[in-house]
Amino acid sequence: STVPAISTSVPGGAGGIQDAKDLTRMERIGAHSHIRGLGLDDALEPRTTSQGMVGQLQARKAAGVILEMIKQGKIAGRAILMAGAPGTGKTAIAMGMAQSLGADVPFTMLAASEIFSLEMSKTEALTQAFRRSIGVRIKEETELIEGEIVEIQIDRDVTGVGAKTGKLTLKTTDMETVYDLGQKMIESLNKEKVSTGDVITIDKATGRISKLGRSFSRSRDFDASGPETRFVQCPEGELQKRKEVVHTVTLHEIDVINSRTQGFLALFSGDTGEIKPEVREQINTKVAEWREEGKSEIVPGVLFIDEVHMLDIECFSFLNRALEDDMSPIVIMASNRGITKIRGTNYTSPHGIPIDLLDRALIISTSPYTEQEISRILSIRCEEEDVEMTEEAKEALTTIGIETSLRYAIQLITTANLAARKRKATEVDVQDIQRVYSLFLDEGRSVQYLKEYQEQYMF
Ligand code: ATP
Repeated sequence: STVPAISTSVPGGAGGIQDAKDLTRMERIGAHSHIRGLGLDDALEPRTTSQGMVGQLQARKAAGVILEMIKQGKIAGRAILMAGAPGTGKTAIAMGMAQSLGADVPFTMLAASEIFSLEMSKTEALTQAFRRSIGVRIKEETELIEGEIVEIQIDRDVTGVGAKTGKLTLKTTDMETVYDLGQKMIESLNKEKVSTGDVITIDKATGRISKLGRSFSRSRDFDASGPETRFVQCPEGELQKRKEVVHTVTLHEIDVINSRTQGFLALFSGDTGEIKPEVREQINTKVAEWREEGKSEIVPGVLFIDEVHMLDIECFSFLNRALEDDMSPIVIMASNRGITKIRGTNYTSPHGIPIDLLDRALIISTSPYTEQEISRILSIRCEEEDVEMTEEAKEALTTIGIETSLRYAIQLITTANLAARKRKATEVDVQDIQRVYSLFLDEGRSVQYLKEYQEQYMF
């Protein structure tokens, strides 16, 4: 049987890749928004403080070596384990790796507990996560038509929200060409802000319009609406160009687009449901064909699984198998547990990960921060959140960071700033820190509180 035509055109491009990266860009308050890379120099040596990263030199260096292997395509199908106490920067380092990967290398983040959803089976959820983390770089030839806009005619509003259809009359060497513009073209028209007299190129495959600028002279009395414009000279040659266009989509996106029950809109709503195995098989066959014909390349990305001890034994055996597939991403697992039970069994093992999986993992460990490092991370966060803070307040916050947790101290920055603003101060002072410290409990005090008032709670 022949493989049906497989569509790869995703509006907006590779969503899976952008998901994680865009989030950090948009949400400045997001916990890791200050991380812009691993902060390594050209020799892959970590700079003490760089790109928002502080300390944790060993782990960052190790992450840098792994990045290098990823870039050289040497590490697909491997697992990496980030092990260390809570708040020691495991997620931060993974984010730093994501920032340093090429723009079209997918990076997916997943908290292990997300796997246990009611909407789909565990293996389906894991399969989707895997396929979101594998990019397919597709090379396509497209035809570019170049010419001068003689007339733009917009017909009607199709959607009621300003998207319109219309016609674009172009002057090319074969005299006059009229293009029927789909809705899409009008949208790119609006974006590019073109008008009559502009020299543009249209990508025949995607309908994208680009403006070259006025590359030839027109008569002074040029009038876009006048009939004489129809005889304006066009630049010689080069009017029809072929161009290679490269775009990257993830396997998951191809799955969704080609799944009849889903439709590409599911990519935006996040409501993709289960995907039939037949669809995936057809897509794998097609992608293999493209690879052989040199039309596409596989781009193994990174799948980051946080709190990996929350996975159960079935998930772990799925991981083991999936890592052996020749289209596997790099799996980075993070755990802050020591020896603990493997979920779904009565056995214990380091990090709650079965020995066979642990055996194939490269382990990066993170260590606790010094006072100075905590203080520096807190300063970086203040800057990131545009919060002014007195030196004394910073010291107080650092002490809190040491005695409770770094994450708790970071969270107090935002709230202390609100407290400062409430009393119309421009700088956060010790009193604001004290105020929010007494308002919001850290874990230790919360446990203490529960113990003291145990009788009043139902246990
Ligand atoms: P858990 O085990 O609880 O998931 P974690 O090890 O993943 O914790 P993170 O969430 O990465 O810890 O760190 C807590 C906070 O401290 C985050 O806001 C993170 O961005 C920041 N952070 C941690 N380490 C560093 C570092 N080396 N440089 C700069 N910021 C850091």
